[in-house]
Amino acid sequence: MSQLVDHLAELTGFRDRDVLDVTLVGALRDLLRPQEVAIYRAVGEPGAQVWMTRARLRANDSAPHADPLWAEPGSLPTLDSVPQRLACLQCQHAVQHHGEWSCAWFPVANDPHTVQVLELHTERPLDADALRTVSSVLRIYRNFQDLLDYSERDTLTGLLNRKTFDERFMRLASLGPEPVAAPPAPDLPELRRLAPAGQMWLAVIDIDHFKRVNDVYGHLIGDEVLLLLSRLMRSTFRFHDHLYRFGGEEFVVLMRCDDAEAAASALERLRQVVASYRFPQVERITVSVGFTGLRPSDTPSAAFERADLALYHVKQNGRDGVACHAELVAQGHLQDRARDNDVELF
Ligand code: GH3
Ligand code: MG
Ligand code: MG
Repeated sequence: MSQLVDHLAELTGFRDRDVLDVTLVGALRDLLRPQEVAIYRAVGEPGAQVWMTRARLRANDSAPHADPLWAEPGSLPTLDSVPQRLACLQCQHAVQHHGEWSCAWFPVANDPHTVQVLELHTERPLDADALRTVSSVLRIYRNFQDLLDYSERDTLTGLLNRKTFDERFMRLASLGPEPVAAPPAPDLPELRRLAPAGQMWLAVIDIDHFKRVNDVYGHLIGDEVLLLLSRLMRSTFRFHDHLYRFGGEEFVVLMRCDDAEAAASALERLRQVVASYRFPQVERITVSVGFTGLRPSDTPSAAFERADLALYHVKQNGRDGVACHAELVAQGHLQDRARDNDVELF
């Protein structure tokens, strides 16, 4: 019993979701001694989803394994490659297999957009006590995830809120070329993740003439537009891109792309998807987008300001467009204040 309480205390002691998943599999390994315990998440475009390993521990592992968040979907197993896991995901009920080997799958859906499955390989089928332990631990895990969502997400759209931006920005921006570890957690095995290729980009997306939408159709219809736009953003960007509602009708994306061209084409894709979408009643809206590449030792506010300057340029030049800060500087439309400061300093 005290072991269970210790694990629950540990499970709820961190506010980092990677560490939370690692703690969950660590707790279940200690409590049930399975041959293997893992959490898998279904990620990717609908119809082409794959299994991403969030955390996996085998009996003799000293550290958990996890797929990097930016793993190419093509390198991960497809959903139907593990039929029972997929069945668990689809029916949202526990699924068990008994035979030469025993395995149990439990759905772990913590919000409508994140769907995970807990998988336990054991020598013998789980007995009633073990099943109760799993379901209690999962209930606490879900409740804690809900609390994290409540504090980190915008209630209308479910996107991340502005409050979490600074902290996530610092974490993402600090991913250098060397392998990095998850934040240190006492008594937890280290979670190693390879740093990805490519650069981080920050984009600010603002709806054009949104005040008119509210004035003509009312706030409720305005809210519906915000909700639908957030859905278009989710389906346009990749699952590991970070999407924020910054307030009002302003959205921010933090994403990893090889170069400015790739970032511009992802944002241009969103602009076109929005321009061609038929919103109920309002019919058409457009968005303006400004973006910038993150620099070493960038601060959240400095990067945001550059993207916002590029956005302002689009607003001044017809709206419904995408502009890159560095390109506007190169063309002489904007001045780079940070670079000016560098010149003064050296
Ligand atoms: P621009 O093209 O220059 O961006 O013009 P705009 O009208 O979109 O920009 P402005 O900043 O003048 O107006 C933003 C409007 O967004 C004002 C406010 O009524 C509306 N708004 C802010 N938050 C919300 C919200 O949560 N729901 C709704 N429905 N409207 C909101
Ligand atoms: Mg606007
Ligand atoms: Mg605005």
